Amino acid sequence: MHGETSTAGAARAVTSPPGAPAVTRPLHVCPACASKLVYPVWWQEHGRDHWSIELRCPNCEWADGGVFCQRQADAFDHELDRGTDAVAVDLDRLVRANMTEVADRFAHALAAGAILPEDF
Ligand SMILES: [Zn+2]
Repeated sequence: MHGETSTAGAARAVTSPPGAPAVTRPLHVCPACASKLVYPVWWQEHGRDHWSIELRCPNCEWADGGVFCQRQADAFDHELDRGTDAVAVDLDRLVRANMTEVADRFAHALAAGAILPEDF
């Protein structure tokens, strides 16, 4: 079996070789479609101030990995936090809109006499 390469356990290997040129684009931006929704699917410390990170774009299914410096990882983390906050705000708006719609329908049904005591 000498000379054969097992693929077991290699699923998490990053594609960029050690010493590859540093990626300078923001990590949340997809290099294939420019979507700003790229997120990490896996990460691990790589030395003292670098990270191995696998990335995926939900818009076009682009996926790649590499080793990035702490500064890039921090900026990426900041963008992910901003994205989480934006989703939370959108969810809150959606819930409020749905509640308003339900309340309006209930008020209209009540005013129209469509809701009776025996409904409860
Ligand atoms: Zn993409």
